[in-house]
Amino acid sequence: MKIKKGDTVLVVSGKDKGKKGKILKAFPTERKVLIESVNLKKRHQKPKKTGAKGQIIQKPAPIDVSNVKIICSKCNKPARVGYKVIDNKKHRICKKCNKQI
Ligand SMILES: [Zn+2]
Repeated sequence: MKIKKGDTVLVVSGKDKGKKGKILKAFPTERKVLIESVNLKKRHQKPKKTGAKGQIIQKPAPIDVSNVKIICSKCNKPARVGYKVIDNKKHRICKKCNKQI
């Protein structure tokens, strides 16, 4: 996958379209990514102590990688990713500014 943990992405479709966030986790086999504050789902948390109240917390759920675009850390624009081989290693390149991401 072209997108990795720690990348900043822009959501381009779905209910969170236009939101930006950092990748918390990538799931290459499912082609999904978990992004902070994107696709939040409500979950009930059980009380930790007896007598305490349970609460509703919001947690992000993974979304399809095709719904996001990477934001280049160099030019700060949503960009397509290319690859360049330097010293037998694959490096990701921003197709807008041609810099390494
Ligand atoms: Zn760039």
